[in-house]
Amino acid sequence: MATPVRSNVLRMHPYQPGKPISAVQRELGLKKIVKLASNENPLGPSPKAIAAVKSALSEVNRYPDGAAFELKNALSVRFGIPMSQVIVGNGSDELIGNIGLALIDDLDDEVVTSEHSFTRYDAAADLAPCLLRKVRMTHDWRFDLSAIAAAINEHTKIVYIANPNNPTGTIVTRTELEAFLEDVPERVLVVLDEAYFEYARANTDYPDGREYVQRGMNVAALRTFSKVYGLAGLRIGYGFVPEYLSHAIDRVREPFDSNSLAQVAGLAALKDDQHVRQSLDMNAEGLALLELAIKREGCSVTRSFTNFHFVGLGRPAAPVFQALMKKGYIVRPVPDAPNHLRITVGTPEENQGFIQAFREVMGG
Ligand SMILES: *Cc1c(COP(=O)(O)O)cnc(C)c1O
Repeated sequence: MATPVRSNVLRMHPYQPGKPISAVQRELGLKKIVKLASNENPLGPSPKAIAAVKSALSEVNRYPDGAAFELKNALSVRFGIPMSQVIVGNGSDELIGNIGLALIDDLDDEVVTSEHSFTRYDAAADLAPCLLRKVRMTHDWRFDLSAIAAAINEHTKIVYIANPNNPTGTIVTRTELEAFLEDVPERVLVVLDEAYFEYARANTDYPDGREYVQRGMNVAALRTFSKVYGLAGLRIGYGFVPEYLSHAIDRVREPFDSNSLAQVAGLAALKDDQHVRQSLDMNAEGLALLELAIKREGCSVTRSFTNFHFVGLGRPAAPVFQALMKKGYIVRPVPDAPNHLRITVGTPEENQGFIQAFREVMGG
């Protein structure tokens, strides 16, 4: 006999991660596998983060600092936000979930986001459970903020906006966002998921979510050490939020949600500006190179503000995905966009190899 599982949990699906390298190696018997599927930093973590983790290893018999004081303090100083408005968690995934846990309390509540966005927003609503409204995108694969504003009603509690968006790589501009924020009732929390902030920030049109938090608006800006900082495996994310929300999250989160190694790694990575700059330079070159090569095969490439390309193949993506995998390249199919693939920028060598494999697969 089994105890009946909550009906809303039965409707949910486990997250489908990008295939791990070891699994593809096992299944296909390939020696060399290149993973361009999960938007990780191909350069690796900052050497300073590696050193910090090594020196903290001998103390993992101790519980981590549940308040993550050192890391929060460094984030507070660096970004000019009071510590009481800085949150840290086991990846920004956890923060997304905790915001839902803290705010949604009955079936009448609603959450709004866009189609073709990050699937973790669904879980926040499904768990409550409450209604998730998914609004259509613009024709150029961007969040349609006026459609989102129109979907907000008296039941809406949270709006999730990925900026830049995953999987499409697009942004909402400062002008669009500010007009939208004027429209939104103050009691609705607007979550700006800025996992790719560092890749986009050089663009003058790109709004920095932190500014709206600093102005005291009902906005949360979520960031992560998983992307440009190269610490995805350690699980450490952070955010800037109104004070009422950090207090509420402190009640629902696990007491030791971010581990001690992740905290020291994040702290060291935050100070390694050179590693970030090097990563961004390598990414910019790779993005441009891949765009040219992919377009040469007759595919469309949406302008990316991230470390990945959203590629329209003009034909079903599943066989292309499989054929690339047989050649040792793992990329990412996109749910609800069956003719598209998401391709992460690799090292220069990985990009060259991918371009060769892509040309062969596309028959050019
Ligand atoms: C990668 C990603 C995250 C998750 O980052 P973690 O900190 O590793 O949990 C959040 N949002 C978006 C849009 C992402 O692409």
